[in-house]
Amino acid sequence: MASSLNLTHAQELAAAVRFLHGRSWAPATSSNYSIREVGQSDFFISQSGVDKGSFEEKHLVPVDAHGAPINDTRRPSAETLLHCLIYRRRPEVHCVLHTHTVVNTALSYAEAERGKIVLAGFELNKALPGISTHESVVKIPVFANSQDIGTLAEEIGRYWDLHPDMQGFLLAGHGLYTWGVSVAEAKRHVEVLEFLFETLLTLRRYGFPYIPPLNAIA
Ligand SMILES: [Zn+2]
Repeated sequence: MASSLNLTHAQELAAAVRFLHGRSWAPATSSNYSIREVGQSDFFISQSGVDKGSFEEKHLVPVDAHGAPINDTRRPSAETLLHCLIYRRRPEVHCVLHTHTVVNTALSYAEAERGKIVLAGFELNKALPGISTHESVVKIPVFANSQDIGTLAEEIGRYWDLHPDMQGFLLAGHGLYTWGVSVAEAKRHVEVLEFLFETLLTLRRYGFPYIPPLNAIA
């Protein structure tokens, strides 16, 4: 028996997906999105193959905590296991957003070897949970992309063991995963991280120095 999804929450997520598509952050049928109601382990994830510009609440597929569709023959996103990982690790999370943008694709590709993006000294760091000053360091890990999502989820889980405050992660040359306690919060995290990623690329493009504090390098 599938858990139920509040219609308002489903509509809120669908509107967010169309917003992300409108920003060119979710091209064509790529990227994926999910939502979970409070107290439930099942969740609802975007159906594979739907253009995100015309995404509606009817395109959400119910799946269990292991990513298996519940009474539904439609195919959920190929990356459902990453959503399962996030919901399992963070009980307070109720929305996961995964975007494919030019900026997050380029920056993660460029930093694949280094394995992380360091965000330090930016006012907008404060828009992330638990951060109250620009004098903060946010590290977004970059994992090698893979089509073996199960193994990738295990690798990210091992990183999470060591970094329980992770706010999002990048897959190299692929895209960003972030989340929130609500659709609104998850959407804010996407906007903030995209803004900061674009800022980093802009500094590089013009050859301006960007020197994070020493404690950000490790
Ligand atoms: Zn993807």
